[in-house]
Amino acid sequence: MNTLQNTSFSQERALIRVDFNVPLDDNGNVTDDTRIVAALPTIQHILEQGGSCVLMSHLGRPKGSDPKLSLKQIVPTLEKHLGKAIHFCDEVVGSKATAQAAALGQGEVLLIENLRFHEAETKGDKDFSKALSELGTVYVNDAFGTAHRAHASTTVVAQFFPNKKCFGHLLAGEITAIDKVMASGEKPVLAILGGAKVSSKITIIENILSKVDHLIIGGGMAFTFIKAQGGKIGKSICEDEKMPLALSILEQAEALGVQVHLPVDVRAGQDFSNDTPQQIFPINEIPDDWEGMDAGPLSEAKFDTVVKQSKTILWNGPLGVFEFENFSKGTRALGASIVEQTKNGAFSLVGGGDSVAAVKQFNLENEVSYVSTGGGAMLESLEGKTLPGIAAMLA
Ligand code: AMP
Repeated sequence: MNTLQNTSFSQERALIRVDFNVPLDDNGNVTDDTRIVAALPTIQHILEQGGSCVLMSHLGRPKGSDPKLSLKQIVPTLEKHLGKAIHFCDEVVGSKATAQAAALGQGEVLLIENLRFHEAETKGDKDFSKALSELGTVYVNDAFGTAHRAHASTTVVAQFFPNKKCFGHLLAGEITAIDKVMASGEKPVLAILGGAKVSSKITIIENILSKVDHLIIGGGMAFTFIKAQGGKIGKSICEDEKMPLALSILEQAEALGVQVHLPVDVRAGQDFSNDTPQQIFPINEIPDDWEGMDAGPLSEAKFDTVVKQSKTILWNGPLGVFEFENFSKGTRALGASIVEQTKNGAFSLVGGGDSVAAVKQFNLENEVSYVSTGGGAMLESLEGKTLPGIAAMLA
């Protein structure tokens, strides 16, 4: 894998695909600079090695040029974090962008305008990609969040740098973390899948069954399995049409020697709100007018035991409706177990959607081994798909 470390940047102009798709307030101020801060190690490495940087990103989903989605608005934040002035080009490709890029001196940074002002970007247009490629002498992809899109700046542009392209620090980190779980993880490997629906996780389950030793199924999707096994789930969410599939997953798991762990009890509410009356029931004996909304204490203890046996842990999806404080205990307890086991030496990856929101909400981001930044890209990786942005770098 070509990385920053085995690529030379001295006298080179690096064209870097970053992810500066940050939230802005009505006055165009950046309200969360996490993604800008995350891009700094790659930029700083290249500048320290004697190169210059041309940064390109999308921001939002503009239909043509739109001043409200101009990347110019992020210049002050980027300058503050880099500790130096940067150049901005109000064009993406064209004579101005080419001239500004060519004029860059060693140690200088140019940010070009929002790639998606041109629909050629999302179409993966070859001429547009070629024009982009002319802005740099080496291509660096550091945007995992868009690596599952075959866009011009994320995928097609790579072909114009046959021998001069590499993964940035962030993207390399994501690839290494996924590989540790899916291919080279120390056993026992545990996957924890939660969240609302079996249907949205089915491809992931099918892909990971042959790679894990233990599988915890929690959250709303557990009820489809419990009902399929004859349990009474009250008015908990359930995808009745997926019940045969749930039984077949359990059979496949058994055939592969994978131990599946379902919740044994549940914190239920009478309606879907934070302040609804709450009661704990066995998972398969929920009364008709109650709805399972969080893992119960016995399930927490059961899952804790499984987590504490594991050396590699993947966590995707919450164990309950963690957005409601009163139904966040199960997800919180699981987070705490994973943190403890990480301290004991396990590798833990939290990725894909709401479990990332959960670890952030509980302030555990820095206590697990890796938190993925790419929602859709992470899900597709866990589904076993080859991401076009990554494939293009390896071609
Ligand atoms: P997903 O995006 O599939 O990972 O699902 C995440 C969502 O699942 C979160 O918004 C949770 O509130 C929801 N969820 C988890 N457990 C339950 C449950 N028992 N009942 C309803 N929704 C749930």
